[in-house]
Amino acid sequence: MSEENVVLVTGGSRGIGRAIAREFADAGAYVVINYRQRGEAAEATLGEIEARGGRGEICRFDVTDRALTEREIGGIISRLGRIDVLVNNAGVTADNLFLMMPARDWDLVIDTALGGFFNVTKPVLRHMARKKSGVVVSIASVAGLVANRGQTNYSAAKAGIIAASRSLATEVARFGIRVNVVAPGLVETEMIAHAPVEMIKGFIPMGRIGQPEEVARVVRFLCSPAASYITGQVISVNGGMA
Ligand code: NDP
Repeated sequence: MSEENVVLVTGGSRGIGRAIAREFADAGAYVVINYRQRGEAAEATLGEIEARGGRGEICRFDVTDRALTEREIGGIISRLGRIDVLVNNAGVTADNLFLMMPARDWDLVIDTALGGFFNVTKPVLRHMARKKSGVVVSIASVAGLVANRGQTNYSAAKAGIIAASRSLATEVARFGIRVNVVAPGLVETEMIAHAPVEMIKGFIPMGRIGQPEEVARVVRFLCSPAASYITGQVISVNGGMA
C-alpha cells in the first residue's frame, strides 16, 4: 500500500469497517471513512487513525441512496483525484423467520448490502476503468454460503454479493481491476451483540469468535500486490465454520 493510495471503506466507522480503515491507514493509505448516522463513531475512528500517524477523512452517505452516493463518490474523486481501493463493508441485519418477516426488513437488508454494492461500486468502477487499475473487496458472510435459520434476507443479500462479484470480476479484469469477496463467520462487533454467542461457539471448530482485525488483515492482503493474480474469489475467515 503506497502513500498515494486512496481507500474508501463503506461503514468504516465501527466494527469490522473500523478495523479495515485502521489496517489500511497503518499501511500508509489515505482512508475515506463512510458512515450513515453515528458521526461520533466515525470521528473516533478518524481520531484513532490520526493518533497512530495515519491520514484520512470522513464522508457521510447512506449507501441505499443511489443519487446521494453517486454525488458523494464524485466529490471524493474530484477532491482526492482517485480511489484505488473500494471496500464494500456497510451492512445490517434484521433477523426473523421468513414467515414473520416484515417487508421493510427484507428491503432494508437487501437494499443496504446488495443495493449498496451496486450504488457504490458502479461510480467507483467507472473511475477505476478509466485509470485502468483498482481493487474492490466486498464483505459478505458465511450466511451467504451456508443455510442460516432466521436470516433469509441477510443470506440472500450476501449470496447476491458473492455471485455479483464473481461475474463482475470477469467483466473488469481487462481494465486491470480485481474484484474479490471476504466471507467472515462470527466476528465480535455490535452486530452480534444479541446473538447467542456461547451456543454458536459450539459450531466453530476453533472454539471462539473472530476479531475484526482478523478480517481486516485478509482484506488488506487481497488489495496488496501480493494478491496480484487473485480475482473473482471468496475467502472465508470463520474459524473453520464452513
Ligand atoms: P456494525 O453494525 O458494527 O457496523 C456497521 C457499519 O455499517 C457502521 O459503520 C454503519 O454506520 C454502517 N452502515 C450501516 N448501514 C449503512 C448505510 N445504509 N450506509 C452507510 N453505512 C452504513 O457491523 P459489523 O462491523 O459487524 O459488520 C460489517 C460488515 O461485515 C457487514 O457487511 C456485515 O454484514 C459483515 N459481517 C459481520 C459479521 C459479524 O459477525 N460481525 C459476520 C459476517 C459478516 P452507522 O453506525 O453510521 O449506521
